[in-house]
Amino acid sequence: MSFDALNLNEVLTRALKSAGYEEPTDVQSAAIPPALAGADLMVSSRTGSGKTASFMLPALTRVLASRQAAVKTRGPRVLVLTPTRELALQVAKAAMDYGRYVPGLRVATVVGGVPYGAQLAALRGPLDILIATPGRLIDHLGSGKAQLGHIEMLVLDEADRMLDMGFIDDIRLITQATPATRQTVMYSATFGGHVGRLAQELLRTPQRIEVSSQTEAHADIEQRLHWADDFEHKNALLDHILTERSMEQALVFTSTQRDADWLADRLHEMGHRVASLHGGMPQGRRNRVLQGLRSQHLRVLVATDVAARGIDVATISHVINFGLPMKEEDYVHRIGRTGRAGRTGLAVTLAERRDSGMIHRIQRYTTQRIPMAVIAGLEPKRAEPKPPMRTDVRPGQRPAGKSFGPRPGGKAPFRPAGKTFSKAGPRARQG
Ligand code: AMP
Repeated sequence: MSFDALNLNEVLTRALKSAGYEEPTDVQSAAIPPALAGADLMVSSRTGSGKTASFMLPALTRVLASRQAAVKTRGPRVLVLTPTRELALQVAKAAMDYGRYVPGLRVATVVGGVPYGAQLAALRGPLDILIATPGRLIDHLGSGKAQLGHIEMLVLDEADRMLDMGFIDDIRLITQATPATRQTVMYSATFGGHVGRLAQELLRTPQRIEVSSQTEAHADIEQRLHWADDFEHKNALLDHILTERSMEQALVFTSTQRDADWLADRLHEMGHRVASLHGGMPQGRRNRVLQGLRSQHLRVLVATDVAARGIDVATISHVINFGLPMKEEDYVHRIGRTGRAGRTGLAVTLAERRDSGMIHRIQRYTTQRIPMAVIAGLEPKRAEPKPPMRTDVRPGQRPAGKSFGPRPGGKAPFRPAGKTFSKAGPRARQG
């Protein structure tokens, strides 16, 4: 399909040309026509698939239609809710990029962690598109500063994540402040459980669009798994990977904010251009760090899951899981930060024995085995852990999906004697 077949307004196709896009991505071909027709949608599409444009182009089409009708209203016509500030800023940037030729386009973001003043001024003035995280928008609704009475289109981006973060009541309150006649478009990796129930509550006869599941995704991303004997070994593996010549920029994930700061300090001492990014940092500093990453001033970013959502930097060549995610879905979100915009990427997971349960859950979730790799001189001493016993399967019942037995070929090689690792990590410090 070409962009012409989507019958978009000329000012939008011109912007797509300036962005260098030649044809719509799968999710854009599937979602844009029904969205333009005003349908409610439930969309699952992997991160990096071009999903932002799949809702932003229909949203901008509405804005253009209102320009022609010359109706003046207070408050925005389009509201996009996102789980994190980073994603909100990313979506706002996409709105400005795709809407660069829309006359007088007014986009505002309302996110937590920044002063209220500028947001209040933006909410007072005329507005087309509002992009918000639920918590801060609730504050502005409570004080009567945000007007949602003219919303024509509501987008819930990464709805599963918003529910995981406990935003369900906020989302309900916000939608109640919008007209029942609105169009609602919901994006989520899955629509089971509470996400499905919320969709039933908020959407009217929605169309379900599923473009590529987590199982088919990530063809452009090479995945590798390194088993580490202990924390020092894991640090040594990381240090080696960060010196690989193919590495342009790396995003290193830790499980906690504290680990992110600790690891960034350690890498800084080693001479890397590195910073940490997590939810405990003031927004101004987070913005500066992201700017440093985009301008390539930083070569390594050490981040937690929530903070890294929405990072879209094409030069990230490596994603390294230094600490494993809490949930298997997050693995998919993490590795999707590389291999973007037509490039290839490498996603390396460093796991200790105690991580083997999560590794197996990830493999079951993606129905792919992460290929095991070793670095010469840094081979693990211990054999690869066996898959854990399934406790969710009754006797006589076969587990669903693929099983991931030990790798054919037997034991992992031994690490040569004499290699010592002296750097103490946070666990050593904690005792
Ligand atoms: P998203 O999934 O919205 O985060 O988009 C992922 C990346 O794909 C972003 O860098 C977009 O600029 C880019 N992108 C979106 N649509 C297209 C397209 N039709 N052709 C090429 N790149 C695109």
